[in-house]
Amino acid sequence: MSELRFTNTGGGEGPLWSFGVGEVEVFPIREVDYFPEPTEFFPQLESQSWTDGAFYTREPFTSDGRIRLNQEAHLLRAKDRLILIDAGGGNGKARNGGIFDRADRPFLEQFGRAGVSLGDIDIVVFTHLHVDHVGFATSADGHGGWTPTFPNARHLVVREEFDWWTGPDGARAMTRTGDYIADSILPLRDAGVLDLVPADHEVTPEVRLVPAFGHTPGNVYVEVESAGERALFAGDMLHHGVQLERPDWSIRYCVQPGDSAEQRRLLLERAADSGDLLVPAHFPFPAAGRVQRAERGFTYTFIDV
Ligand SMILES: [Zn+2]
Repeated sequence: MSELRFTNTGGGEGPLWSFGVGEVEVFPIREVDYFPEPTEFFPQLESQSWTDGAFYTREPFTSDGRIRLNQEAHLLRAKDRLILIDAGGGNGKARNGGIFDRADRPFLEQFGRAGVSLGDIDIVVFTHLHVDHVGFATSADGHGGWTPTFPNARHLVVREEFDWWTGPDGARAMTRTGDYIADSILPLRDAGVLDLVPADHEVTPEVRLVPAFGHTPGNVYVEVESAGERALFAGDMLHHGVQLERPDWSIRYCVQPGDSAEQRRLLLERAADSGDLLVPAHFPFPAAGRVQRAERGFTYTFIDV
């Protein structure tokens, strides 16, 4: 395999990174970096500690005792199709506190710098329906409502995922954030641009969903294969480097922590054994890398910027 690295295609406004998976071009789109206390995500740390000096206790995974969680989406150009994997937390939306409450961040502006207008996007894929993966799919319509941000796109949600979040369990789970399904997903359905798909759906010949239920009840990751190369867009199947060493550490917000841990281990084994690129949604920006088995768990080698 040729040596892979990020290319900077940005101009004077700062870097715009991209990398290739065969003939598919990938642009990581940055939304925000944040630095929560480790125990906010990992309740395990109330009774266990992480390994002294391990790679994930240092930069870029951790800074001044806080974990770094970056928030990113991925724009793909696959032949003549433009595909967005996940849609961030969004702007201008009322949440019950937290970093996405009435946010105003230059997320969509990055599309233009990639030479893409919002109307060019063909497909938006949601790995799952957490608050930080759906928000930019709709924008304020100026009359108190919400309208699709990408007017010509089909929006793909796994049927089990949609059913759970629009049912009583989903409503309970959203008491923490506020009902973001109402402003970010239901307007897509009402506009006739939402497709409920099976969890192994083939999006295009190069892009398909892989079922991995656990983080949420209809969670998937996205496999991209082109010209003999493959990348696995892992969404929220892992958030932080500590989960490479300890794949059994699900985060506090995993809906089914046991299943989530099992799926995380299977994904890491797959990535290690195949050499496929692994691209999580919350690793230090602009993360893509390869997984290796280690004495304990796994390690991760970033491709260079
Ligand atoms: Zn997330």
